[in-house]
Amino acid sequence: MDIAGQVTQTQVAAINRLLSERGHRLTASRTLILEIIAAAQAGLCAEEIYAQARAADGRVNLSTVYRNLEMLLHERLVSALDIGGGIRYRLLLPGKQQHYLVCNYCGRVREVDLMYLAPLREKLLIGYNFEPEFSGFTIHGRCDHCRSGGLPRQEDFEQE
Ligand SMILES: [Zn+2]
Repeated sequence: MDIAGQVTQTQVAAINRLLSERGHRLTASRTLILEIIAAAQAGLCAEEIYAQARAADGRVNLSTVYRNLEMLLHERLVSALDIGGGIRYRLLLPGKQQHYLVCNYCGRVREVDLMYLAPLREKLLIGYNFEPEFSGFTIHGRCDHCRSGGLPRQEDFEQE
């Protein structure tokens, strides 16, 4: 198994452990769906997850995929982000807060480093005596590429 595959396995194991602690029964289809989402860097739509799951295990049906995605969303272990081409699902790692910059023009998604949110956290605390608990928020705008006037490059955001 390659490094990326090992990372995926570790992430899926961590999520399965957390779900067991929360009283969810371990199922083979859920593990498969988690592995598929974890392995995809750019996020996947439900139909893509279904197609890959089906190829690996013919017993998986679309309602199984939707039911699992719903549960994982509810448990805040996946994010569902609509960047114009439909909803795409990504893994949210337990204990790791993820925030995204989403380009309204080309749909490119980048992760925001937490250090950029630290000053905002401090200002809200001082200004409003309010302690924010940022959990996966999305900032919409225009990316570096679109700001420099370039046409959206599809291959760019497929690599992310
Ligand atoms: Zn853009």
